Amino acid sequence: MEIACLDLEGVLVPEIWIGFAEKTGIAELKATTRDIPDYNVLMRQRLSILEEHNLGLPDIQAVISTMAPMEGALEFIDWLRERFQVVILSDTFYEFSHPLMRQLGFPTLFCHRLIADEQGKIVDYKLRQVDPKRQSVEAFHGLNYRVIAAGDSYNDTTMLSEADAGILFKAPENVIAEFPQFPAVHSYSDLMREFANASERDL
Ligand SMILES: [Mg+2]
Repeated sequence: MEIACLDLEGVLVPEIWIGFAEKTGIAELKATTRDIPDYNVLMRQRLSILEEHNLGLPDIQAVISTMAPMEGALEFIDWLRERFQVVILSDTFYEFSHPLMRQLGFPTLFCHRLIADEQGKIVDYKLRQVDPKRQSVEAFHGLNYRVIAAGDSYNDTTMLSEADAGILFKAPENVIAEFPQFPAVHSYSDLMREFANASERDL
C-alpha cells in the first residue's frame, strides 16, 4: 500500500503570500520559507505586517479567489490519484487554501488554521502540531503505508527524509545543493516518472 504526500504551494499552486504581496504591493509579504526557514518567525512577521496595513482575512481571500493552480497541476494530480492514495501536507491554512483546493477537486489536505476576530483581523494562527509533515508520514507508516513524498522547500525536507522516497520538485538551487540525497526534477512529466520509479508497483 502506497501513499503519495505532496506539498501544496510551489508544487501544485503558486505561493499564496507572494500572490497577495503582488496584488497589494507590500513587498515585505513576499518572504516565504525559502527565505526564512523558521516558520514561526515568518508567520509572526506576516501577521504584524497585515496589522500595520489594516488588512484582514476577507482581503486575503479576495486575492486568493483570483489565483489558479500551476499549469499542468490538475492533470498531474489526476494522474497521481489514479495510482496512489494522495494526501497534501501543507503549512498553509484551511481559510487561505479553500478557493484553490476547489480548483484541484478538493484532494485531502492536512494543514493549519487561522484565528480571526469578528472584524476579520487575523489575531493568531493554530499549527496542528510540531513538524506536521514529518509526523504525518510517521503516522502513515504506523498505518502500514509506504510513503513517497514531493516538495519544493526547507519545510518539506523532514517529510522527504521520513518518507520511503523523497523527491524535490521545482526546488531552488540552495535546497537542491543542501539535500543532494533527493532526486530533483522541474516538470510534472519528470515528477510522474520519479513517482513511478519510487513505487514498488509496476505503474
Ligand atoms: Mg512549498
